[in-house]
Amino acid sequence: MKIRFTYHAHLFLYFMAAISCKSSTGVWQGQGAIQEVTTTNKPIQLQYKGTQDIGKGIFASNDYEGARMNGISLSRDTLITVLITPENTTINPSPWYAFKVWADEKKGVTMRLTYPEGTYHRYFPKVSRNGEVYQNLDSTAYRADTQLTSNGTYRATTVDLSLEIGPDTLWIASQELVGTKHVEDWKDTLLSHSYIQKIKTGESHEGRELEVLKIGQGEEKQMLMVMALQHPPEIPGYLAMKAFISTICEDSSLAAEFRKKYVTYLLPMANPDGVVHGHWRHNRGGVDINRDWKAFEQPETRAIRDFMEKAVQESEGKFIFALDFHSTWEDIYYTINEELEGNFPGLVPQMIRESATLLKDYTPNIRASPGMESGVTSNSYFFFSQGAEALTYEVGDNTPREFVKEKGRATALKLMEILVNQ
Ligand SMILES: [Zn+2]
Repeated sequence: MKIRFTYHAHLFLYFMAAISCKSSTGVWQGQGAIQEVTTTNKPIQLQYKGTQDIGKGIFASNDYEGARMNGISLSRDTLITVLITPENTTINPSPWYAFKVWADEKKGVTMRLTYPEGTYHRYFPKVSRNGEVYQNLDSTAYRADTQLTSNGTYRATTVDLSLEIGPDTLWIASQELVGTKHVEDWKDTLLSHSYIQKIKTGESHEGRELEVLKIGQGEEKQMLMVMALQHPPEIPGYLAMKAFISTICEDSSLAAEFRKKYVTYLLPMANPDGVVHGHWRHNRGGVDINRDWKAFEQPETRAIRDFMEKAVQESEGKFIFALDFHSTWEDIYYTINEELEGNFPGLVPQMIRESATLLKDYTPNIRASPGMESGVTSNSYFFFSQGAEALTYEVGDNTPREFVKEKGRATALKLMEILVNQ
């Protein structure tokens, strides 16, 4: 059976804002200022999900959680063209792709990844033979035709992957896939600790539970909030969060003392529907939920806000720190302007500075969050509404995963040290 895909180009003709810039010193300056946008529900284009027989004994599928493949065709004998499109118009160019391919017999093929006009390739391909363990594609099998774009950066509109396919399925994805099952399994492991409990806060658009883990036996007077995956493709941020939380949960006297004095609340996957649907950025309401922390039009943001407000009300305590994990082009910390004082002035800069001393040859890139006054991000809600010292912890798309873990651990160690010794 052959299914033809059509895609409505007019839906996706948009111009990207400047996406990144470097200063004359070569230090990445981060993304442009955050704009306030409307966050009421918008329609999204759902993918056709299924297995495609594309001819010559070659098959491909996007029929699994987190997959994204909006069209595929055999262009020549061994050239397979894949179309990747966003869920709706997007404000951030993060083309997520994930699919699997196999063939009746072994053959070499070229897979060409293509995107809507005005969108560029971003994620270096990862491959897997079992759909669980991914590694970078061999760089010699990767060719990107880059061109100079209007904002002065080089980007590729299409990339070619040289692949050996055959009866064994080959999985291809933008980043290591982290699905809801992975997160649930990890949460179950954490829940084996007597000092961790789960708390239901609400549901996503599609009814997925937004469950918060409460870590620690403290009096709930001094609380921390940790969150990841507001944006589905931002797996490196998720991996940093895991390392951070694992350190807080480890069997050491520092961690035990920290857990006695403080309570940490964790929401590991803030946008589960977006992850399940393989979205580039938005939730099932077609909205970037990290722009909804002022209007609170979306169930995910409302659930966390209500949870935090209730926690403060019931404990008569306060959130002293909040940490939101993301990924972007390079590692960067978006902080609150240091002149503004929250519930623990100086905590964030001290934690970043001291954690950097644990890492070899590492100079942290720190920037006050641009556009923070607009108050639409989680970070600005945490700080301006809750008084929590807030940090958006951004991990580079290609930051080596061992370093991601080391830095997440170093951050937790220094945070605990500062808070325990205060
Ligand atoms: Zn993000």
